[in-house]
Amino acid sequence: MTSAATKPSSVNRLKSNDAGRHMISDYWERIFTANERNASVVWYNGAALNPIFQAAGLEWAHGEAFAARLSAQKLEKSAQLAAQEYGYVGELCSYARTHLGTALLAKQAREKFENGIVDEADRDELASRLPMPNFIVNSYAGCSTGQQWDELTMRVLGKEVPIFNVSLPFLWSNRADAGYLQGQEWEEASDYVADQLHKLIEFIEFHTKRPFDWEALREGMHYIKQAAEIRRDAMAMCRSKPTPATFWDWIASVAHINFLPAGPELVTYFSNIREEIVGRLARGETAIKDEKYRLYFDGIMNWNKLGTLARVFAEHKVAIVAGRYTHNAFWQEPHLIDTDDPIRGMAQHYLLCPTNHGFKTIKHFTEHDCDYYGLDGIVFHSTRTCRAFTGPQQMLARAMQKDHGLPSIFFEGDVADESFYKGELLESRLEAMLETIDVRRSRDLIASA
Ligand code: SF4
Repeated sequence: MTSAATKPSSVNRLKSNDAGRHMISDYWERIFTANERNASVVWYNGAALNPIFQAAGLEWAHGEAFAARLSAQKLEKSAQLAAQEYGYVGELCSYARTHLGTALLAKQAREKFENGIVDEADRDELASRLPMPNFIVNSYAGCSTGQQWDELTMRVLGKEVPIFNVSLPFLWSNRADAGYLQGQEWEEASDYVADQLHKLIEFIEFHTKRPFDWEALREGMHYIKQAAEIRRDAMAMCRSKPTPATFWDWIASVAHINFLPAGPELVTYFSNIREEIVGRLARGETAIKDEKYRLYFDGIMNWNKLGTLARVFAEHKVAIVAGRYTHNAFWQEPHLIDTDDPIRGMAQHYLLCPTNHGFKTIKHFTEHDCDYYGLDGIVFHSTRTCRAFTGPQQMLARAMQKDHGLPSIFFEGDVADESFYKGELLESRLEAMLETIDVRRSRDLIASA
């Protein structure tokens, strides 16, 4: 008899993701050693401004990414405690809360180091290893917490660090000509953000006292565009039933497309993913054992529970094939990038954050994805401290049921605070929804006989 502990997993993860993990740890090691190398560091949140920082010769530390990394490694508690002691309540976005706590720990660690109380080797708390920033850049779409987070970080750091804010307007899409990637609102917002990116570059030139390297930006965006095209191609192959890769595989590659350095290695990484998927399709190898149901995942990621969630769904023979967080974010429209003159296409991607759209556009994505990937229903991750993602979910659930007959369930969790996760609720609601799907299938079968 096979015990639960030795039961073989039904999740068949992409091997090329595992092979590319070192890229993430190499990146963070570079960040952690930035001060020793006298490199200038920028802390930033939200939009993927990293190609600009890379071209300017900076090291870039992404606030959400660091909070997510701490959570995925179960090392987030000390930072959250520090934030709580400072006065940030548990209802504050756990990304922001963890990162603000990190700022406090890193500041304390830096002060102790400068006073000779500890050396670098004694800084064993990962949360305190983040190097102090030379400046901060905020560029947050669709969320008032995100837009204020860096102001708070600046205060936590004693108002001594210069800050630049890129304002990203919300795309309401309520004018007659408005639609996804089209209409006056879209064109005007694109120009407005592009103009600010030029001003950001002036700000960086002022603080680094170096002229900006435009050729390096063009080169970086060339690699990002290539990597993004390959990623989209590989995602589209998951239309195949059963699917060769799942949403969880795309989650595992979010760091790479979102903030790792732009270069040939990034292109090779996504080429390897695509090649592996092509190989799986040719061999009939599937992402989970005996796929029976195909679902969409709406919600921001729960970084504490990645392995748990992947297992829960796979054990119910559910392939989560696509999601708002993965398929409608992260350079998802690479045709917008003009590699000779990349600023406007970059600005447009920053506006395309999946929390930055009115309901009409969110419904448009979801309908497209559910139809394209042949999905049976939707799982909503009702993220406790991220109101920006959860805001339209109830309306979306009702509209998808009414207009497309797609059932859905909600489960509670959070981005970086596992105390909000309700695993039992998820399992019981999931089982109920799968029964509904079974009943619908039997009915359709009888009707077609
Ligand atoms: S509330 Fe959500 S969208 Fe806003 S900063 Fe937090 S994670 Fe980002």
